[in-house]
Amino acid sequence: MNTTLFDFLDRLQVQTEPKPGQYLGEDGLIYCEKCHTPVQCRVTLAGKVRVMPCVCQCQKEERERQAQQIKEEEQLLYVRRLKAAGIQERHLQEWTFATATDTPSIQMAKRYVENWQKVKAQNLGLLLWGDVGTGKSFLAACIANALLEKGVPVLMTNFSKILNQMGAMYSAERYRYIASFQRFSLLILDDLGIERNTEYALEQVYAIVDERYKAGLPLIITTNLTISQLRNPEDVSHARIYSRVLEMCTPVHVPGADRRTAIGKTKQEQVKEILFSKS
Ligand SMILES: [Zn+2]
Repeated sequence: MNTTLFDFLDRLQVQTEPKPGQYLGEDGLIYCEKCHTPVQCRVTLAGKVRVMPCVCQCQKEERERQAQQIKEEEQLLYVRRLKAAGIQERHLQEWTFATATDTPSIQMAKRYVENWQKVKAQNLGLLLWGDVGTGKSFLAACIANALLEKGVPVLMTNFSKILNQMGAMYSAERYRYIASFQRFSLLILDDLGIERNTEYALEQVYAIVDERYKAGLPLIITTNLTISQLRNPEDVSHARIYSRVLEMCTPVHVPGADRRTAIGKTKQEQVKEILFSKS
């Protein structure tokens, strides 16, 4: 402490009269009428007792509430930006656990999200395979949305879209584009196997998968291909893609009693209930 600071403190005007909403307490300090805690305090500085302004309890709580509100708004904005960057297709954004029927597949997906820290640390990928319409994309989108809600950067896209975008790029740009996927803690590639079967396309698909492999970050892939098709590829170009995928992603079969049928059933039940029940 130096004397300049004390001079400054000595020159400070101490509030002696209560303002509206305040009163003078028995201890000579000014109090807040609302919370009955002082807006002043006594501090001893270099042997001299000084009355200094301080924040009463209700003001303190109000400031904390405001700070918390700002924090929540910032988090909301952050999640909104993450979602916009991570899932461009509107309908996928609406596929969440809240809209899901509780099947073993959904429970597995929920555990994937709950254990995300371990999943990420151990780089646990999934290969969701099963027939068309089994809800593999739905499952993947549920995982994506739940992780995005938690503030985890996720990108959900598909090979066709990536290849379309890469079509117009120079090779250096292409490399940067593929490398940019590393910004996302989780990459979800929907529908492996429906992309064009050209040598160029297969080369890019391999590059995307291999880049993820090198980054050591988790990958979720959905596919209509069977495990036997993945294990017995038709040629070398497919073989190296599938073997990388199987190395990174644990196959999880998504069984056929699917979401679309489930929705159909409910509709049927509704029709039965509304139009045919005798009441
Ligand atoms: Zn107060």
